[in-house]
Amino acid sequence: MFASRYMPCRRCGASLERSERAGHECSLERLLDYQMFQLREEVAGFEHCFWGHLDSAYGRFEVWEAARRVRE
Ligand SMILES: [Zn+2]
Repeated sequence: MFASRYMPCRRCGASLERSERAGHECSLERLLDYQMFQLREEVAGFEHCFWGHLDSAYGRFEVWEAARRVRE
């Protein structure tokens, strides 16, 4: 069986050569990008629910109430 010299880091997804794995430290930026990539469907689902809620009768009332409070 063919074994690749490179393996992705489980935490940040960086492609690492075998010799690099032991000393690898995930960069914060890459770690956040990877986590956001993994959560992309959840984020999109949240936005869909959020806008759907604002479009409901209760959501429209909340928007109206928030605007009223800001004006006071
Ligand atoms: Zn990593």
